[in-house]
Amino acid sequence: MPENRYDIVIIGGGIGGLMSAYRLQKRDPGLKIAITEAGNVLEKRVCPAGKNSTCAHCKICNITNGFAGAGAFSDGKFNLGTAYGGTLGEELGEDVANKYINEVDNILNEYCTSGIPQVYKSNDELRLKCIQNNLRLLDMNVKHLGTDNNFLTMQNIIRAISEAGAVLLHFYECTGVERTGSGYRLSYANGETLEAKKVIIATGRSGANFVAGFCRQHGVKMRSNHIDIGVRVEMKDIIWREFSEKIYEPKILYKTKTFEDRCRMFCFNQGGLVSAENNHGIITANGHAFAQADKKTDNCNFAILSSIRFTEPFNQPTEYAENISRLANMIGNGNVLVQRFGDLIRGRRTNEHRLQQNTVIPTLKATAGDISLVLPHRILTNIIETIYALDKVAPGTANDDTLLYGCESKYYSIRPEFMNNKFELIDGVYIIGDGSGICRGLSQSGAMGIYVADQIAECLK
Ligand SMILES: Cc1cc2nc3c(=O)[nH]c(=O)nc-3n(C[C@H](O)[C@H](O)[C@H](O)COP(=O)(O)OP(=O)(O)OC[C@H]3O[C@@H](n4cnc5c(N)ncnc54)[C@H](O)[C@@H]3O)c2cc1C
Repeated sequence: MPENRYDIVIIGGGIGGLMSAYRLQKRDPGLKIAITEAGNVLEKRVCPAGKNSTCAHCKICNITNGFAGAGAFSDGKFNLGTAYGGTLGEELGEDVANKYINEVDNILNEYCTSGIPQVYKSNDELRLKCIQNNLRLLDMNVKHLGTDNNFLTMQNIIRAISEAGAVLLHFYECTGVERTGSGYRLSYANGETLEAKKVIIATGRSGANFVAGFCRQHGVKMRSNHIDIGVRVEMKDIIWREFSEKIYEPKILYKTKTFEDRCRMFCFNQGGLVSAENNHGIITANGHAFAQADKKTDNCNFAILSSIRFTEPFNQPTEYAENISRLANMIGNGNVLVQRFGDLIRGRRTNEHRLQQNTVIPTLKATAGDISLVLPHRILTNIIETIYALDKVAPGTANDDTLLYGCESKYYSIRPEFMNNKFELIDGVYIIGDGSGICRGLSQSGAMGIYVADQIAECLK
């Protein structure tokens, strides 16, 4: 049983929580810090689907939960700026946000011990090509660690934090935070309780319900932010090679013609694999790629997501997205659906026979079906229009054999109202990373973690 009184308890061991702990230790090595994580230690995070390609519906998903967080098996793309990946620049001002993103980069440089990661620069020629086709290429410098190096780097950072004295507790899912006279008492699903003077909530996207519960309990207002719902798209790698060779990861915005909605292509994986993600029993699509040449596939994959901004009185955007994904699982017999683009356009389902004859071999074992029975008309129209728009800059994108996996959604919809620009929710409880509704990527989540650590260190002086 751990000692139960700490200066700071960090809930969630993803990059946000790790960067907070790292910075707090640097600022004051005497601080007693615990990181409590719902999932497993990094080394024991093994997805059973790795063996048979089918989601095993683990109670706690090893892909998204555990030390190193949702980014543990990611491609390790670190955005070296604020053009995308969250709105930290708007919150803190571009200069301050970039300063903290640079600090994340410096820490990566220190702990990335297996080679120098490649940095991809922005590209004028591709930006022009996109503009000429009503597409907006979001570009900035991106540091690419690759899945393997990213894993090792996170392992090194976790080791450093542990060796500097922080207590790292796995299978500690926080269920509640209550005020005591001098701070907070945190309750855990395993029956344990911890006491802390200050608390950092760093629970990422998978902790959206925890954050909502905390806000309801403590009277913190929540704003409905936008949600993104759509599909993971897979095709032959060669189709997007011009982009991937020059800028590594194309991120492109498109304003659709019918609804004038914003659709975005992002999370591109060259030579990658489509993966399934288990969010509280709901299986959604995602993707990643290994850095080593021998682990590359012939395919590339990326997400196309349609952004929806709900207005009053509706305030359950996460549940809305979850229900759409649940519907896909219902039709897909508990799994993600996959459909050929040609079948979608012809209004017919994809079946196993058509899938087997497809020239694009699926890298995820999903259920062949019909995503038009799942996605609302508006979202589906947006996705189809975006695929045709992208086909103009990367011909072949709208081929019949292009595969669409449904659904993929991003649940960063709940945006709590902060007390101040220290991202305090209530006195002494702070929130960082994807779970704050501000970040959508590794760099900004890490940067926000360091920023909040600085605010706490100042406060404790
Ligand atoms: C497959 C995949 C690939 C990605 N690739 C990239 C990429 O290449 N580049 C990029 O910038 N971003 C990428 N992302 C997004 C990136 O991983 C996230 O933006 C980032 O991890 C957010 O960091 P975080 O610390 O806020 O949250 P997370 O990394 O999600 O960590 C939160 C942690 O909190 C834990 N937790 C949740 N609730 C509780 C609770 N109640 N009690 C205790 N612990 C709890 C979770 O188990 C989790 O480990 C990817 C995401 C995925 C899923």
